[in-house]
Amino acid sequence: MRRAPGRAGGEASRGVARRATARLLPGRPPGRLRTGRRDAALGVDARAGRNADRARVAGAAAALALLAACQPWHCDFESHGACIEFTTNPPDLAAAQVRVDALLERELPFWGLSHLSGWRIQFRDGANYPCYFASESAGCTDYIEHTMSVEIPPTSNGCFEASELLHELGHYALGDPMHSNGLWHGVEPAFAPMVWEYAGAPAECVARYKGITSGMWVVNFNSF
Ligand SMILES: [Zn+2]
Repeated sequence: MRRAPGRAGGEASRGVARRATARLLPGRPPGRLRTGRRDAALGVDARAGRNADRARVAGAAAALALLAACQPWHCDFESHGACIEFTTNPPDLAAAQVRVDALLERELPFWGLSHLSGWRIQFRDGANYPCYFASESAGCTDYIEHTMSVEIPPTSNGCFEASELLHELGHYALGDPMHSNGLWHGVEPAFAPMVWEYAGAPAECVARYKGITSGMWVVNFNSF
């Protein structure tokens, strides 16, 4: 998961790195977790996270997840097998579908994925999305609800691709709640090539993020 950055810290403005994602406060538990045991129980792709420690953590996480409220799905369209839901529809939903298709074409292979059947990707406005005991999150992967929910950065100016979906896809793929896998090191540098630095990138993304190559998708390595 990614905790929502404090609004005082703010999101990166052009050329200014956003501060690292909000750190776990003392005594606060982790967000949604994914492990081999949970994966097996849920029948989803399980490729990592099979050690006992993670299984124990996942047991606690599963219990905590029961505290989370279920949200009905409102799929705007499907992409790569996933239900895609915008809590506020973009002005041109057909264009958004093309962009989501393209976004997943770029991001799924990063984690060795090709489809997300049975899952929902929710692009939401605002950080008000409880993730276990955290009341806010920039991203949350829920293995019970089969939902990856990501906040569209409030100053993204229509570039929903700047959401931290690549990060949550990592939790989906790796079962690595502590960001200990070496692949996490590639997430932050991937911001530019995934969001604005490629041929045909959406004009909104180029206009807003061109020149920003770091500071947007900071990962707290070996930490929740
Ligand atoms: Zn995370």
